[in-house]
Amino acid sequence: MLPVVSIVGRPNVGKSTFFNRLIGRRKAIVHDEYGVTRDRHYGETFWNGRDFTVIDTGGYLPNEMNVMIQGIREQVHIALEESDLILFVVDTKDGINTLDKSVAELLRQQEKPVIVVPNKADNEERRFNATEFYELGFEHLFPVSSINGTGTGDLLDKVVEMLPPESEPEPPSETPKLAFVGRPNVGKSSLLNALLNDERAIVTDIPGTTRDSINSNLTYKDKEYVLVDTAGLRKRAKVKENIEFYSTIRTDKAIRECDVAVLIIDSMRGFEEQDKRVIREAEKFNKGLVIALNKWDLVPEKDTNTVREFEDYIYSTVPQLYYVPIITISALNKQRVHKVIEMAETVMQERKKNISTSDFNDFLENMLKEKPLPMKRGQQLRITYATQVKSNPPVFKFFMNSPHELPPNYRKFIEHKIRERFGFLGVPLTMVFRQK
Ligand code: GDP
Ligand code: GDP
Repeated sequence: MLPVVSIVGRPNVGKSTFFNRLIGRRKAIVHDEYGVTRDRHYGETFWNGRDFTVIDTGGYLPNEMNVMIQGIREQVHIALEESDLILFVVDTKDGINTLDKSVAELLRQQEKPVIVVPNKADNEERRFNATEFYELGFEHLFPVSSINGTGTGDLLDKVVEMLPPESEPEPPSETPKLAFVGRPNVGKSSLLNALLNDERAIVTDIPGTTRDSINSNLTYKDKEYVLVDTAGLRKRAKVKENIEFYSTIRTDKAIRECDVAVLIIDSMRGFEEQDKRVIREAEKFNKGLVIALNKWDLVPEKDTNTVREFEDYIYSTVPQLYYVPIITISALNKQRVHKVIEMAETVMQERKKNISTSDFNDFLENMLKEKPLPMKRGQQLRITYATQVKSNPPVFKFFMNSPHELPPNYRKFIEHKIRERFGFLGVPLTMVFRQK
């Protein structure tokens, strides 16, 4: 888990400009807030050999003074919970103002290390004047210009020095990890609680897990699992945009950590934009996937076709999900909640599957007979040999002439055929094509 550095401060001091300066050309994860004037960002960067996550806590704040102060308080509170180090950005052009003072007060009441960053110190005079911010009561102060980059190197040296010492990488654990992910209010915590109360499953908190994730152990049918927590902090947030933003960060972390991600969807709301992002993340990191349609109790007048209709709806909304199993549950009524674990277990087993090279080449031969490869530039495309080079997650390697000529639809066809023959339910497949 990377250390987290949060940028806090009142509006217009240059937080987002400063964030962009720190993240540079590295890709920031943009959280688009529909209907809100600006995007929120977080991203990863490195300096002096340390990797860390930077969060721009900026985002939207209401214009009205009282509400704005409340909004800033909430941002600071969340930043404190989420971070190892706070960068408190102020504006050398404006000097200290009331809002700066109230942020400073909040930061002084707690233990997390703080560095004051007087921004817009574009010239000698402003850099000199930046010392006035010592009045805010913090020991560390590094003026910068986010526009021209002055001072950022010295600041980053200090940041890295003040980060908590690098922890030993945890030995890879054999215990499979499940993450319940999904938008706020879909029922993630309710599902956890329902499992807690399902006498077939035993859930216990793992003490001493990192500050911001409270993982649990789950024993089900004599097998142990780790449930990666994604709920936590949002309970404290009141501003909807904050809840959404931080739940995105949580979700991304949880997906990276897990073996199987269970995407929970509210049956009443259906598939939403954020859900597609979760799917993309899970596929990017080759994690197993299960979709759980929760709040099934609210679906009116169900008959034997209702499940099928919902499945059809999901598979037609996001056709790429054709390989992902869908289950319907009610966390509230504890209906089929143990199915979530069983399905995740199935996917986990599928992810570990190894196909022998001879079976795979039999399969290849039949597939090529069924649908011969096309001609490209007057040349017959040929796959001569293929093998599964890795499992958990699975990777297949194909040797062929002119791999770059392979049409994308043939690639898809191969994937469909592999699944038809070998399964791999809920498991993203990696296929590489090499010149032979
Ligand atoms: P935020 O609301 O704190 O995220 O502030 P923004 O990053 O949106 O910046 C507010 C304004 O300050 C913008 O017009 C920026 O171009 C400007 N700004 C940001 N950093 C600097 C800087 O280092 N020097 C100068 N002169 N202007 C800056
Ligand atoms: P989270 O934000 O994803 O952790 O969602 P919560 O578990 O806090 O649930 C949000 C709301 O949905 C709460 O009011 C729950 O009582 C309700 N809820 C959760 N699961 C179900 C369900 O299966 N059926 C119904 N009717 N309500 C549910």
